[in-house]
Parts: sequence; C-alpha cells; structure tokens
Amino acid sequence: MAYVGRFAPSPTGPLHAGSLTTALASWLDARAHGGRWLVRLEDVDTPRTIAGAGELILAQLTAHGLEPDERVQWQSKRTASYEDALSRLSSANLVYGCACSRQVILQALAAQNTPPDRHTTARYPGTCRDRALNAARTGLAQRLNTKGAEAIEWQDRRAGSQTEDVHGTVGDFVLRRADGVWAYQLAVVVDDAEQGVTHVVRGADLSDNTARQIFLQRCLGLPTPVYLHTPLVMGADGQKLSKQNGAESLPTVDPIAGLRRAAASLGLPADVMPQVTTPYPLLARWIEAWKVRWIDP
Ligand code: GLU
Repeated sequence: MAYVGRFAPSPTGPLHAGSLTTALASWLDARAHGGRWLVRLEDVDTPRTIAGAGELILAQLTAHGLEPDERVQWQSKRTASYEDALSRLSSANLVYGCACSRQVILQALAAQNTPPDRHTTARYPGTCRDRALNAARTGLAQRLNTKGAEAIEWQDRRAGSQTEDVHGTVGDFVLRRADGVWAYQLAVVVDDAEQGVTHVVRGADLSDNTARQIFLQRCLGLPTPVYLHTPLVMGADGQKLSKQNGAESLPTVDPIAGLRRAAASLGLPADVMPQVTTPYPLLARWIEAWKVRWIDP
C-alpha cells in the first residue's frame, strides 16, 4: 500500500508551536515511510476562518522546510463532494433533520438526569430522530443516526487499543449545521478518502473524534486509515497550546528554533547539528530518528 499522509490545519489563525509539531510529525512519518505528504486547509467553518490565515500557514510551512507533494486542497471548494456524501447517507435513511437548539438539548439531558460534563460535547438525546421533520425545511441541522450502532474498536499507534460506543458517548452527531456549515467530521472523512489518505498523524486533542470518523467511514463504505495521535505540546502554564489560549504565531525568520522545539516535543534529538541555519539537514536527521522513536522502537 502506497503511504499517503496529510496535515490538515484549520485557517483560524497562523501556525503556532502546537500546530507546527503536528505538521512536523505528519511530514516525518510520510518521509520515513517513503510516502507522499499532502496539505489540506480545513476552511469549512467559515465563521471561524480568518482571511489570509491559510496563505500565512502555507508560507510558514515552506519557511520550515515542509512542502506538500501535491496541490493544496481547500475544503471550501469541495462542497459538491460533501453534498454527495450527505445524499448517499440520506438515501440509506441514516440522516435526519434536527430543529433542536443547544438550549433544548441541554434541557432534554437535564430532564433525563444526564447533564453533560463541562468539558465534553453534550450527547444528543435523539429528540428529533423520529419526528420526520420535512427534509426540505431550511434551518435544520442534519444528524447521522447512530442508534443500534456497535461500539467502534480501533488501534492508535501510540495509545494502542481503543473502543468507543458512539451512540452512548456523543449520540447522533451533526453532519451539516443548521446554518449550512459542513461539520468537521463529514468533511474530514470525505476528504481523507478522496485524497487516498492511508495514515493520519495528528494531535492527541483530536483523538476523541476518531470513533465518529470511523463510524462515518463505515456508513459511506470508505476505508479506515491508520491513526497516530501525537502528544500535545503544553504551554508554560501546563495547558495545551492552542490558538484559543493565544499561542504565538511562529516567526518565519527563525524556523530552526521552532523546528527544534517541535522535535523536542516529539521525543526526537532536538539539539543535534547546532550550527545549521537551514531546515533540510535537521529534517533529514530527524527522519531517521523518527523511525527509531515512532515506527520501529
Ligand atoms: N482541521 C483540524 C484542526 O486544525 C484537524 C483535522 C485533522 O487532522 O483531522 O484542528
């Protein structure tokens, strides 16, 4: 099987130490397998997308020596494929329209005595599942019916065996929001399949989406890639670094410092070759270190 990997940032801000680490990990894994590495800009969530952030991320990747092997894909141009997937699921009676606001969902859960934890996605209690709301009505979210689904079992290359009962944890999840925005779950599954992605390497904060994505792959008859969720990069405050808590954009003028820091968080020898001023010798050295640390320890 020819290896195809990808880095799939959302252009909601520039690349920062955390997202550079994911980019480096997926690039190294692709190179270590002699595979191809793709970049896909996940700009479906239009309200959160920041103008110019996608172009900036691409420039930052180039400055760090991480260049995609194929033309960059933008999810905002891929609506036809998402429509097609949604209509295939609808034809199989796996989708229904949902009129519930967040408030209504929380009230229903409270009434069932199962209010969500503060840090987890509220499980959808299935309120609209059997209501057969008119599909032509606008302003409905589209949800995937998970009732009766078996627990999903999958292997993470780092964390090992995982199992999740999607119906019990998140319930019928959204494929397209009421405002028409395509859900991350649907877009990522359709795109990974269309781009022939065989290996997903991404941050551990996305790990709990994997069972939903595998469930969706099965509903659509698509193959499941191999998954590796890399450890999260923590800020000085012990919190995960993210655009939300103000992780700083990486300067393109000093890519070496950023790369060394990313390599250190992946357990690679960050301080080798102290004199180098361009990324390439370091990257070449780390491909070998990656094999030892993450492929054949
Ligand atoms: N676009 C997602 C993010 O930036 C990552 C998607 C993925 O790697 O599956 O959080």
